[in-house]
Amino acid sequence: MQSDILDKDIKFLPGIGPRRAELLNSELGIRTFGDLLSYYPYKHVDRTRFYKISQITGDLPYIQLEGTIVHSGITGAGRNKRLTAVISDGTGQLELVWFKGLRWVNDLVRPGKKFLVYGKPTTFNNKVNLVHPEMEDPDKQEKQMRSALQSFYNTSEKLKNNFITSRVISKMQNRLMGLVYGKLEETLPEKLLAKTRLMSINEALLNIHFPQSVEKLKKAEARLKFEELFYLQLNIVRQKAARTGKVRGLPFARVGDLFNRFYHNHLPFELTSAQKRVLKEIRRDTGSGKQMNRLLQGDVGSGKTLVAVMSMLIAADNGYQSALMAPTEILASQHFTTLQKILEGLPLQIGLLTGSTVKKERKILNDKLLSGELNILVGTHALIEETVRFRELGLAIIDEQHRFGVAQRARIWKKNIHPPHVLVMTATPIPRTLAMTVYGDLDVSVIDELPPGRKPVITANYFDNRRERLFGFIRKQIALGRQIYVVYPLIKESEKMDYKDLEDGYESISRAFPPPDYVVAIVHGRMKSEDKETGMQQFVTGRAQILVSTTVIEVGVDVPNASVMVIESAERFGLSQLHQLRGRVGRGADQSYCILMTSHKLSNEARQRIKTMVDTNDGFEIAEADMKLRGPGDMEGTMQSGFPFDLKISHLGRDSRILEYAREQAFIITEDDPMLEKPDNKVLIRQLRRLNPEMEEWSRIS
Ligand code: ADP
Ligand code: MG
Repeated sequence: MQSDILDKDIKFLPGIGPRRAELLNSELGIRTFGDLLSYYPYKHVDRTRFYKISQITGDLPYIQLEGTIVHSGITGAGRNKRLTAVISDGTGQLELVWFKGLRWVNDLVRPGKKFLVYGKPTTFNNKVNLVHPEMEDPDKQEKQMRSALQSFYNTSEKLKNNFITSRVISKMQNRLMGLVYGKLEETLPEKLLAKTRLMSINEALLNIHFPQSVEKLKKAEARLKFEELFYLQLNIVRQKAARTGKVRGLPFARVGDLFNRFYHNHLPFELTSAQKRVLKEIRRDTGSGKQMNRLLQGDVGSGKTLVAVMSMLIAADNGYQSALMAPTEILASQHFTTLQKILEGLPLQIGLLTGSTVKKERKILNDKLLSGELNILVGTHALIEETVRFRELGLAIIDEQHRFGVAQRARIWKKNIHPPHVLVMTATPIPRTLAMTVYGDLDVSVIDELPPGRKPVITANYFDNRRERLFGFIRKQIALGRQIYVVYPLIKESEKMDYKDLEDGYESISRAFPPPDYVVAIVHGRMKSEDKETGMQQFVTGRAQILVSTTVIEVGVDVPNASVMVIESAERFGLSQLHQLRGRVGRGADQSYCILMTSHKLSNEARQRIKTMVDTNDGFEIAEADMKLRGPGDMEGTMQSGFPFDLKISHLGRDSRILEYAREQAFIITEDDPMLEKPDNKVLIRQLRRLNPEMEEWSRIS
């Protein structure tokens, strides 16, 4: 009976009807009673607190007051047309202003009428007013679900124009609550509820919309957050169990000649202990008979490539081929060059396949792959095209994972009858809580140590008007034999303008650093790939001292002699991107610098980002800061990966403790009852289906 009512079309809720239902649906995705119930308020305001008009200032948050309209009238014409009403409560007078729905509001706010008024004070021409406040007749307030804490719901401009305001949504909730309260079936197992001492679903939903007290509101939030994160984790835990249970891995039984020869004769330096530890973890996974699905996290410059190389040697020692996939052509060809160099003298064949590999070359590569002659294939996502067939792919490595989605990962699986081992490498430091969730079905290895002798990069913020000083600094560094990156932002929507910035920048740098003393190279996404290659090579070989580019160099590029990273319009970059860019320097033994060029005027958030960069070099700290500033929602596309449903109430950044607890409980339950067959657990399957109708589909891909 409960699910029936939750699935009921929202238009059947008294007072809504088809037109409003349509709007709720298109604007907020609310289709059913259940959807409305889980449309949670974004904040609650204490309704017992009434302000006196004499106390009101422009910097107060949302306030409420009670007063009587003194006079009102429409003034202005065209776009300046507005309705102004003056309200008084005996301590003073306050102006209320509307720009829309004038006629309707005008009929409402007749002089002499009493109102409860809610709104956010703003200051205009040194006068405080309330723009588009919500008005309520104090006598007609709905009594039924009264609560001292008023819920506020997000709405849209379109909804507001159709008079579906936060308060109207609250009234809808009120009506719905009257129908369902006390009748909702529990959505967590009874045992789990008892153990965790969480509030029941009926109480939680009542109190999230109509808090009966501050304590109960807190409990309601805790319960709903737990539930949301618990199901997220349960989903992941089950996927992982399904994979490890079903899929047999290719056994890499031994470490052989290739690995040992490389280790003893080719390795240009001692491995860091973190690199050693990660290699052991990979050895253990690939030798275990299970299929490895591992995420390797390591800050920029921590030496992930070497770990990749040595893992591929283990694969080759066991007669298997490997693939190394990178997100850009530049990075792929750089990996190819590195591999050729450090593996020189070993009996291995390495190939490079990218979008610009010509047909003839492709054919040769394909033949060698099928015959097994080719041991290692490096490339871009050209690697996962149908036409590329391996004899026996044993290990697939994906560099800089955040550029690839789950779907691409899944395609690698289909390359063999037996799925290869998969190693995903990322320098985007992901906070633990997020890794647990986004990559919840991957095992995680961390390189938490940089190769010895690295000096932390010194980061400074220069305002645009100190360009002369910047050039002076660059000149000095070049005189010391160093190389310089200058990076310009490129944001799709305004491509033309961005390219103009880049080109102007290139010109002014070329003028300040003229030949024959200086060579300035340029690389950007619009160049042909051979021109890109030429520009890059000029810089890699040291012929060019300065490389002007867009963010094409963001990931992976390795030029140890480069010691200065200048980032133009740094305020336009996100934190993780800034950190990635900075990671391009500080790779050699020299002191390196990162100069963030910004304008004088910065938004608060931009200022915070720049400050974080100046204050710390620690990728994990930066990731945490990033998540607090932005929320995880748009972390470099990481999110498309693991998320079967939207988070409605919890926040991965702020609710990390609840997340960990929920994950623990999800593990305990699945261990005790892997198929979730016990009567108490029936509710779990039902809820999983409800939250994530495509679940069966999901468990099949990684
Ligand atoms: P990332 O983890 O960002 O991919 P790379 O693999 O490109 O980092 O390594 C960065 C630099 O550090 C490279 O020049 C590499 O040769 C060097 N490197 C890697 N491991 C070590 C080590 N154990 N000792 C010294 N240098 C190392
Ligand atoms: Mg790398």
